[in-house]
Amino acid sequence: MRLVLFDIDGTLVNSMGAGKAALEYAMVSVYGETGPIASFDFHGRTDPAIVRGLLRAVEWPDDEIEAGFESTWEAYLAALDRELVERGGQVRPISGVNELLGVLEGDERFAPGLVTGNMEGGARRKLGAAGLAGRFGYGAYGSDSERRGDLPPIARERAQRRYDRSFDMGMAVVVGDTPEDIRCARANGARALAVSTGRHSVEELREHGPDAVFEDLSDTFRVVRMLADE
Ligand SMILES: [Mg+2]
Repeated sequence: MRLVLFDIDGTLVNSMGAGKAALEYAMVSVYGETGPIASFDFHGRTDPAIVRGLLRAVEWPDDEIEAGFESTWEAYLAALDRELVERGGQVRPISGVNELLGVLEGDERFAPGLVTGNMEGGARRKLGAAGLAGRFGYGAYGSDSERRGDLPPIARERAQRRYDRSFDMGMAVVVGDTPEDIRCARANGARALAVSTGRHSVEELREHGPDAVFEDLSDTFRVVRMLADE
């Protein structure tokens, strides 16, 4: 059985800017400013790393940044609820995701889970808004570590508890839309499946040496063969 570790934003779900709008609201209410939020590259970073990066860019010291984390997440999750409701039915799974998950769930070779930079509560809200609540039995989140590369072992630990068996990271696959996801896979000895459904093109992703790149996850047969390493 293999761990299949899915990123959320740009891979499973497009939240139509809800996360960014909610974070902007939360940072203004807690820190009084957002740093260079319009130009900052959010993609592939964990939520705490995003807040730290934005505030460091405007000379905030780390201790003051960290002192605001807890209130920021509280304000962020409340704002995210509102932002997702406002976007109603626009927040949907990305092409092919529902079908792929349906196949993985019925195939005992795979244990589908999450490795995402979202806070756990944010992940739950975004997946819920897209109709994907309850589709993943375990995961690791931005609320577990600020560094994405730390997350796969945490996800594995949780999968081992849930399935009551051990998993080999060398057979795991990280599925994501950014070079960060590919690096995260490499740093953990896992395979990397990149998808160009986020901001990066197939060509850009290929430069980072993933095991496979697809335009999206809609060719279920090919994706499953790649995940199974066939
Ligand atoms: Mg992503």
